[in-house]
Amino acid sequence: MTGPSDKALVPFVSVDNMMALIHRVGLEDMLRGLVEYIEADFRRWELFDKTPRVASHSPEGVIELMPTSDGEVYGFKYVNGHPKNTRDGLQTVTAFGLLADVGTGYPVLLSEMTMLTALRTAATSAMVARALAPAGADTMAMIGNGAQSEFQTLAMKAVCGLRQVRLYDLDPAATRKCARNLEGHGVEVVACRTPEEAIEGSQILTTCTADKQYATILSDNMVGPGVHINAIGGDCPGKTELAPGILHRAGIFVEYPPQTRVEGEIQQLPDDHPVTEIWEVLSGQKPGRTSSQQITLFDSVGFAIEDFSALRYVRDQLQTTGLCDTLDMLADPDDPRDLFGMLQRAA
Ligand code: NAD
Repeated sequence: MTGPSDKALVPFVSVDNMMALIHRVGLEDMLRGLVEYIEADFRRWELFDKTPRVASHSPEGVIELMPTSDGEVYGFKYVNGHPKNTRDGLQTVTAFGLLADVGTGYPVLLSEMTMLTALRTAATSAMVARALAPAGADTMAMIGNGAQSEFQTLAMKAVCGLRQVRLYDLDPAATRKCARNLEGHGVEVVACRTPEEAIEGSQILTTCTADKQYATILSDNMVGPGVHINAIGGDCPGKTELAPGILHRAGIFVEYPPQTRVEGEIQQLPDDHPVTEIWEVLSGQKPGRTSSQQITLFDSVGFAIEDFSALRYVRDQLQTTGLCDTLDMLADPDDPRDLFGMLQRAA
């Protein structure tokens, strides 16, 4: 019996290999690389096949599929969101993803994406902050100090020149963990006891909490003029972080409106409330921040093209690093029409 041919073996990036890749490239370099890939894809936004992600909700969480294609390569991510998971020692968010060749439909990459999602979400935040944050912004409030928080901080450092992060979490143990992890990374860390203390002097306000409800992480009176809000955690129907009053005062920037209107902070607003698509800013078709006093809000929910870009980045890195295994996941009979014969010969 012969083994599968090379064309039927699919490169697979395990969690171990993803971590090895991040260390090989260097976390901050990889975050910068991801920003380049994501921005390049946002600039060619119009040629992508786009659809809001397909979500299956349950009382405790959500499981989602996020597909897209640029006409040559197809990609999707499987991702969950289960805020209660951390109580049982499980991640809130886990993911894996796949790229396939549109010409043959054959998968060309399967990858873990729990780690990669944290990097791509952070890279997207930094890409948008670079375009919208007020000039000279170097201090960020990081509210919610869970799994995403260090990545968010270091992407802002690598891409936007962040110098100080002000941490706050309902759970002081999460803040201690985040502060410890950020030691030695070249960002000044200030642990705060209240969200008000965290936003003091911050030009960028990142909310990255996990709770399946209409939460008020930032109330209207906490947000002064001129700041950039990077709202990450409100990413599901019935799950938001910002008081509606803030939304009425802010210039709102989104990834893909048909998805964000259902999942983002703007689910609290009427369907015709004006928003700007971030790709239009990145491609120079629409202005970003229009004054130093404007509040800019990135209502982030996470869109399929960001995952596609991240997988594309990983695939390109494999050419030089070879940090992958191969998976025998495609049946490959010698005669393509003799699948049954292949089964019989395996007996
Ligand atoms: P996590 O569970 O690891 O961390 C969440 C933290 O928020 C916890 O430490 C918790 O104590 C804290 N928290 C909860 N309520 C709070 C409150 N009222 N005030 C302050 N802190 C509070 O989750 P994570 O993996 O870091 O993800 C955070 C959120 O980001 C989740 O809701 C997730 O769905 C979302 N997310 C969004 C994107 C995106 O692209 N927009 C990508 C990944 C994750």
